[in-house]
Amino acid sequence: MNYQTVVGLEIHAELTTKTKIFCACAPRFGQKPNTAVCPICLGYPGTLPILNRQTVLCSIKAGLALGCQIHLKSRFDRKNYFYPDLPKGYQITQFYEPIGTGGAVEIPEFHKTVNITRIHIEEDAGKLIHENGVTKVDYNRAGVPLIEIVTEPELSSGKEAAALAREIALLLKTAGVCTCKMAEGALRVDVNVSVMPENSQALGTRTEIKNLNSFQSVRRAVEYEAGRQIALLERGQPILQQTMHFDEQSGITSPMRMKENGDSYRYFPEPDLPELVISQKTLSKISAQMPKMPKELREKYKVMGLSADEAEIFLHDKALADYFHAVIKEYPNCRKAAVFILSEFRRRLRETGLTVKNQRCRAETLAKLLKLTDDGLILRAAAKEHLLTLMTDGGDAAQFVRNSQNGCDEQTILAAAKELIQKEPQALKQYQEGSKKVFGFFVGSLMRRFGKNTDPKMVSGVLKKVLDCKAEECRNGEQ
Ligand code: ADP
Ligand code: MG
Ligand code: ZN
Repeated sequence: MNYQTVVGLEIHAELTTKTKIFCACAPRFGQKPNTAVCPICLGYPGTLPILNRQTVLCSIKAGLALGCQIHLKSRFDRKNYFYPDLPKGYQITQFYEPIGTGGAVEIPEFHKTVNITRIHIEEDAGKLIHENGVTKVDYNRAGVPLIEIVTEPELSSGKEAAALAREIALLLKTAGVCTCKMAEGALRVDVNVSVMPENSQALGTRTEIKNLNSFQSVRRAVEYEAGRQIALLERGQPILQQTMHFDEQSGITSPMRMKENGDSYRYFPEPDLPELVISQKTLSKISAQMPKMPKELREKYKVMGLSADEAEIFLHDKALADYFHAVIKEYPNCRKAAVFILSEFRRRLRETGLTVKNQRCRAETLAKLLKLTDDGLILRAAAKEHLLTLMTDGGDAAQFVRNSQNGCDEQTILAAAKELIQKEPQALKQYQEGSKKVFGFFVGSLMRRFGKNTDPKMVSGVLKKVLDCKAEECRNGEQ
């Protein structure tokens, strides 16, 4: 029998606020354990939560980025369970009335749109660290604001699941609400997987694989789990509704626990927090301030003549995209600028370990370098070398025209000489017929172009070589 895989995602994204959701602690990634904690996030009796405004603003942006309807009134609930990473013994979340519902996200490479069921605000739990048979707990993460994004079960493969997770990450990053650094746990994906006979209407029993920390793991976990479920069905065995763990090394899923049914969390409205009310004015203001989203940006890059893959690099790297946009303000050949930045500039970043921010070639300088190259004042091949100098030492692109030893270097003159001769077939003919005067014309043109610092002897040497070479070619051509 043929089976169809069905997948739905639950994504937890840490919001990029300065402080935690209900207190003033400001944890940083990699900080010493239990140093960004206070009586509120440690759940001391008698403390009260105060909702962080920035958390709400980020959540609204996230909802808008995912096309959700933002509810002007939402509420917080208590999700009760006992676990050592949860100091209060409950998590404050939005269960009954989430901040956003009914969004949709397009996955361009699959030409598919997946519906977003809901997004809600909640607090993160602490982190358990299992070491040499001992479990330690770090509460720095307890109380970090999260949004949870729940999708409809509309994905049908591991590849689609990974692509959707990647697209959601891009949307959140573009909206500026999450770093989406999966290795740092800023974005964690749970996948719900079931299989059903092809053409069946009824969804199969699902398992939930928790906390995948790379897009590749999302794909692999879905593929493995679907295979495991199909094998069970083929053997006539039931699929248990379980929470599973995915082992990166072996690529295998294994059960963590039976799925709790919702009731065991004993949800009830959080009595320590008022209803969350957002004014229409705030919502409109945030909507108006939203940055350009990937859909619009993809369209824009396409118009500029960039390929989908080239555009994707800029979409995923805001610093590089900002740099590119600054370059094309001064140098309007978008395609040429994009290619140079995506290949040469990025290659140099990789080689030197510099970043767009700390390298020293300003966007205007790069624009100038490209212009001078187009004008033949800097040789194309040399521009790539000059770029490295500009990135590491800074300076002005024009230095490579003016400052090189005697004005301009021989390579540049050579290129310019060839170009000039190409443009002056009439003069070339006269030269070949033995005109001395026309040689002077050639030297004069180049000297005027490259300035008085350029060595005239070098210029005439180069010109003579090129002209004689041309003459040779012509003679051979006539034979
Ligand atoms: P819970 O809160 O217990 O995890 P939900 O009903 O909210 O349960 O569903 C959570 C996720 O499970 C959603 O992403 C949804 O798309 C997915 N899901 C629901 N049913 C199935 C199914 N039969 N197969 C695959 N995924 C499913
Ligand atoms: Mg779930
Ligand atoms: Zn705190």
